[in-house]
Amino acid sequence: MDPQREKKPHALCIPIPVQGHINPMIKLAKILHSKGFLITFVNTEFNHQRLVRSRGSEAVRGLSSFRFETIPDGLPPQQNPDATQEASILARAIEENFLGPFKTLITKVSASYSPVTCIVSDMLMGFTHAAATEFGIPEFLLWTAGAGSLLCFDQYPYLLEKGLMPLKDSSYLVNGYLDTVLDCIPTMHGIRLKDIPPWIRYINPGDEYMVKYFCLQLERAKSASAIFFNTFDELDCEVLNTLSLKFPPCYGIGPLHLLENKIVDETLASIKSNLWKEDPECLKWLDSKEPSSVIYVNFGSITVMTSQQLIEFGWGLAKSNCSFLWIIRSDLVIGESAILPHELLAEISGRGLLADWCPQQEVLSHVSIRGFLTHSGWNSTIESISCGVPMICWPFFADQQPNCWLCCHKWGVSMEIDNNVKSDEVQKLVIELMKGEKGNSIRKKTVELKNKAKESCVFPSGSSMANLEKIIHLMQTSLI
Ligand code: UDP
Repeated sequence: MDPQREKKPHALCIPIPVQGHINPMIKLAKILHSKGFLITFVNTEFNHQRLVRSRGSEAVRGLSSFRFETIPDGLPPQQNPDATQEASILARAIEENFLGPFKTLITKVSASYSPVTCIVSDMLMGFTHAAATEFGIPEFLLWTAGAGSLLCFDQYPYLLEKGLMPLKDSSYLVNGYLDTVLDCIPTMHGIRLKDIPPWIRYINPGDEYMVKYFCLQLERAKSASAIFFNTFDELDCEVLNTLSLKFPPCYGIGPLHLLENKIVDETLASIKSNLWKEDPECLKWLDSKEPSSVIYVNFGSITVMTSQQLIEFGWGLAKSNCSFLWIIRSDLVIGESAILPHELLAEISGRGLLADWCPQQEVLSHVSIRGFLTHSGWNSTIESISCGVPMICWPFFADQQPNCWLCCHKWGVSMEIDNNVKSDEVQKLVIELMKGEKGNSIRKKTVELKNKAKESCVFPSGSSMANLEKIIHLMQTSLI
């Protein structure tokens, strides 16, 4: 083995195999590489093939010091590959099938490439803890969701003990019970039951798998050397300090894409991780629009809706008279293809561009974008904030409800749309966001946060830059 190579720290980075987790992990891996680490980045075989299909084989070629490896998907063979879009199927596959191949991989890359000196694992891939312990390798975790949502998941045992959860029956979903204000979640005063992750609000004991899965991962996380977050202190300091009291030291090292822009060289920056093929028309179309005139609509990689909800969004956008770029994934509508009625298509022609995937970061930084109608996934939220783009939130699941609550009630950068979406409300909120007083006031706050995000990543004294130096030191010197 090359002696120079052997001296370098070697991080084995493994995300949960879904888009919103792969993106921040690959950014972190690139940043670590720029700071002198050898990187092995682990995708599932299914996602590895998807990357090749969507971006060509160069997407996974890597460099001699930044290598891609794969492990099997762990899904039953008869399972449709889209099962990776089903959180509970994926969680079971991870828990039951990933550990063995992961250990084999550590042995293989340590022997053939360079000894693994640290594991950087998604905090929801808790099985890696057993491997880290067995091999005596320090483990660092990346929590890719909103930091506030981790505080909410952590309160689940308390909610159970107080009898607030599980819900007694489905009438509790509609009888106002979810408006109950919780006083138990530190730093998130005023948050209601409806704002905490929906997996906590199950009704039948058989539906508690996901929250149990989360609790298990949280328990395992307590043995890690540190936890990293894709956020910055000026936004989430209180939450991170609170989490550090119960978990290993928590560091905000985001927005990761800003650190990436600052630190990573061009060769590595060109390695992208989109599993869907980006439509090149989107940016060209935005170029043809007036500055600050377009609302961008995207519900991320997993959110689904009914065809009625799709149509309500469509008519709301049409009636707003605003220009919009709307990303409609082929699997956005539950069990059907996403089809808009002819009259609606005629109404929006020339004013709305529909596409099935776009380069979101470029879109959000485009000068023509004025607002974002989002599902409040954490990556979308932090990307939007760091571009100074205010939002309308329609949260779907996981961390999205607490992200939405924080955006609307704590940071003042968003407005919320009712889950039972109606076109009139979409129209009203889009007009407010694009042209109204409230829209202007939340835009001002978003721009303030954008500037803080930038400062945290650009200057050596910036909080995320300083935290990055701390974690690099920890990762280079940590022993188990
Ligand atoms: N994304 C993208 N193009 C799209 C939709 C999404 O590049 O058309 C990226 C987006 O920039 C973000 C990730 O996919 O980094 C989605 O993550 P998020 O946490 O917002 O939502 P999730 O997909 O996990 O629900």
